[in-house]
Amino acid sequence: MTVETQKETLGFQTEVKQLLHLMIHSLYSNKEIFLRELISNASDAEDKLRFAALKDDGLYESDPDLQIRLDFDKEANTITLADNGIGMTRDDVIQNLGTIARSGTAEFLSQLSGDEKKDSKLIGQFGVGFYSAFIVADKVDVFTRRAGAPLEEGVHWQSAGDGEFTIEQVAREKRGTEIVIHLKQDASEFADGSRLRNLVKKYSDHISFPVIMKSEVSEEGEEAKESKDETVNDATALWTLPRTEIKDEEYKEFYKHIAHDFEDPLIWSHNKVEGKLDYTSLLYIPARAPFDMYNRDAPRGLKLYVQRVFIMDDAEQFLPLYLRFAKGVVDSNDLSLNISREILQNDATVESIRTALTKRTLDMLSKLAKKDDGEYQKFWGEFGTVLKEGPAEDFSNREKIAGLLRFATTHTGESTQNVSLDQYIERMKEGQSKIYYITADNFMAAKSSPHLEVFRKKGIEVLIFSDRIDEWMMGYLNEYSGKSFQDVARGDLDLGEVETEEDKKHKEEAAEEHKDLLERIKTALTDRVQEVRVTNRLTDSPACLVTGDFDMGAQMKKIMEAAGQKVPDSKPIFEINVDHPLVQRLESEKGDERFGELSAVLLDQATLASGEQLKDPGAYVTRLNRLLLELAN
Ligand code: ADP
Ligand code: MG
Repeated sequence: MTVETQKETLGFQTEVKQLLHLMIHSLYSNKEIFLRELISNASDAEDKLRFAALKDDGLYESDPDLQIRLDFDKEANTITLADNGIGMTRDDVIQNLGTIARSGTAEFLSQLSGDEKKDSKLIGQFGVGFYSAFIVADKVDVFTRRAGAPLEEGVHWQSAGDGEFTIEQVAREKRGTEIVIHLKQDASEFADGSRLRNLVKKYSDHISFPVIMKSEVSEEGEEAKESKDETVNDATALWTLPRTEIKDEEYKEFYKHIAHDFEDPLIWSHNKVEGKLDYTSLLYIPARAPFDMYNRDAPRGLKLYVQRVFIMDDAEQFLPLYLRFAKGVVDSNDLSLNISREILQNDATVESIRTALTKRTLDMLSKLAKKDDGEYQKFWGEFGTVLKEGPAEDFSNREKIAGLLRFATTHTGESTQNVSLDQYIERMKEGQSKIYYITADNFMAAKSSPHLEVFRKKGIEVLIFSDRIDEWMMGYLNEYSGKSFQDVARGDLDLGEVETEEDKKHKEEAAEEHKDLLERIKTALTDRVQEVRVTNRLTDSPACLVTGDFDMGAQMKKIMEAAGQKVPDSKPIFEINVDHPLVQRLESEKGDERFGELSAVLLDQATLASGEQLKDPGAYVTRLNRLLLELAN
């Protein structure tokens, strides 16, 4: 026959080798999870078969009862797990059991430290899947045949998990996949009926398919037990049960099954909706971000079922992008079993479910925030920057999302983002009507910015934004709880009633009194600033830069530049603190050249203090040195 009938030895992809090594060395204290992973795969395979058989019921062959069998052999020290699911072709096997297809895997694996404790956490972000068999096995056999394929097109895969596998065509009557685990000596505990039963109960009670085992020897004698099989698990899909009948542990295990995660989820929300829409959803928030959360092609979305029948993984249409960290199941009674990804995109029912699930997810987060600040901070630390995409993407939920945001502020003293807008508003000064914020490259730069001087003096709290996305997000958030946001480095600074009549008068008088000075500076700096004016922002610094009301902010410019886009060329407003000795010195300077030099130095310093780079740093240094030398003379 063809070449393919011959046994062939192939090497694992490098990433698989790394993963295997890592798994065996970091998960040995958590060996038992291999069974959950394999049963999870078996269950997925049954799901896929049922789905494929919707179109072609010939795929059931003569074996329509979907089930998973678990056997063991104490003597041989093996466990055998067999499903009658979709099975795999030779190409599938090579692809699925020899490579890892997720992009970014190589980078991810290269970050691992070799510290087993840390790595075992990290590997949780990745999910271990099939390869976890090698935590307990020194050899694994896989026999499989794709549903509908000719009997002689079975495949036998074998590996000792040491870098290579063999693959060979074999005849196989049964459809689906059978995995034989040859247990390591130190894992022989698993070739045991009650141990396996307990594990199935613990990890796989509520997958949708029965896990069948041989009954154990009973008092009734040999005869009876020989032929007797029993279903070990409950075998009803978890989400179809009433909430009151589900234990937290069961919710957690089910999460691990669907999310391919092996840490517990942070929270979940399980709801049955009847009426105009008829669906059940079970949504989870993971405790940890996956390694590829910012990868555009990373899988996201919910597992979609229609009338209990699995339809697809990663159905993206049921949640907006900014909630892509949520995992779960949606089971609809309204959609057609024939629904395709394309139809999902503009189906009115899907749209309504999406609206409801979006709200449900946001509510789940609000509830967590109210109930347990510590847990909410965990969520925020992992997914906060993703949620910040929300205001731009989801206009109608802006207010709700804003309520979930957390910020570092001038009052937190550290860069941790843990102040909510509600808290901020509660601590607002008497007479303060706006929510102030400052944007900078990092927390320290923001915190020492001259723009905060007047706020410090008046004790007004200012939100500190230093994530790249922040300024962009603020473009979509105008107000919260009826209070508008104000960038402290933009436009006229309105301090509301916190600014006393005296303050205002002082500013007005100063502007009048120093009119000539302002003009002179403007002339000296002509092409570099759009306006020179007296400030109400500063107490200690001589000058600062302000962005015009409608001009693009510095952070945003950087983002656009980094993306290779053309940035509009807007000049800053230059604000002067006329009470500052340096400015007074400038004012008394008669020589035009010297006046120009000093003005330029002030401007450059103000630029540096806002965390910006100078267009011509060399000129600044030369100028400053010249002035210093004059001083020395
Ligand atoms: P995941 O389940 O997250 O996709 P796994 O490593 O567990 O990753 O499995 C890799 C792939 O191997 C699966 O996506 C599936 O295509 C295939 N596979 C594993 N086990 C089975 C099985 N019992 N039947 C059919 N295909 C399987
Ligand atoms: Mg899997």
